[in-house]
Order: sequence, then structure tokens, then C-alpha cells
Amino acid sequence: MLSNLLQLHRMQQAKSKKPTFWSSGIQFECQGSGKCCVSRGQYGYIYLTLNDRKRFAKFLKISTLSFTRKYCSKTDGYFHLKISKNENCMFLDAKRCSAYEARPTQCRTWPFWPENMNVKVWEKEVKAFCPGIGKGKLYSKEDIEQLLHLDPVDS
Ligand code: SF4
Repeated sequence: MLSNLLQLHRMQQAKSKKPTFWSSGIQFECQGSGKCCVSRGQYGYIYLTLNDRKRFAKFLKISTLSFTRKYCSKTDGYFHLKISKNENCMFLDAKRCSAYEARPTQCRTWPFWPENMNVKVWEKEVKAFCPGIGKGKLYSKEDIEQLLHLDPVDS
């Protein structure tokens, strides 16, 4: 589903000659709220590419196969982290990612996800949800576009 959203976004961007709402860049810095790692409602699963699974496995010093068996489920053909009982990410520890170095593409690219890069969604949902928006590092238009092109699932 994310791949389709990404494709749709790219098509829309290619057609549009209008400046985007992020053409002057957007400030973002994780404030460690852990909000994007807890019961995620509409944000759903944490997807994993093969490279994400390899990186995680290396971090945990286990094989990719062991990591996949122990920590992953597959839905509609896409790997994602298993859902823990409390629905928080199983790598969340006291509001911190215990696997930060190995966190998957989906986490690395938050909040610059294709489905968020719509001014209404950004203003009404993303800004309200994430306390890191408008703080810290300024991501340029080019930085954001680069992140938007990173696919969080294997297509
Ligand atoms: S892998 Fe880390 S950054 Fe990603 S949702 Fe889990 S705790 Fe959060």
C-alpha cells in the first residue's frame, strides 16, 4: 500500500508545477516523545525492507532469518514488525528506540512520508501528532524529496 502511495505522490509531484508547501524546507527534530512508536492508530504497521531486516539482524547479532522469524510478520506480502501486546513497538524502551542505529526506513523517514505531504494532512494531523515538527534541523526541499523517494517496503 505504501508503494502505491509513493507512486501516486510521485505522479502528482511530476504533474504539479506549483511550489510545494515544503519548498522553503521544514524544520524537524525528534523530541523523544515516543508518540510515533506507540499504539499508532492510522499510522499502522512498521514495515521493513530486506535491508532493514539485515540491519536489524546485524544490530542484534543474529541472522536475518532468525530476526525475521522472531520479530516479523507479513501482511499483504510486506514484512513488518510484529505487534506487541500493548500495540507499542517492541523496540520502544522508556520512550526511546532501543534499536535506534538499526531503525527501519519507515522510522528514519518520519515525518516525510508521501501520505503526510499534503498541506491539510500536515497542518491538521502531523503537526498535532508530532512535537518535533518546527523544531531543530531545517530539512531543505531536496532533503525532503530524497527522503520521500526512500521506499519503506520492497516493491
Ligand atoms: S523501531 Fe525504534 S524508531 Fe521505529 S517505531 Fe520502533 S522504537 Fe520507534
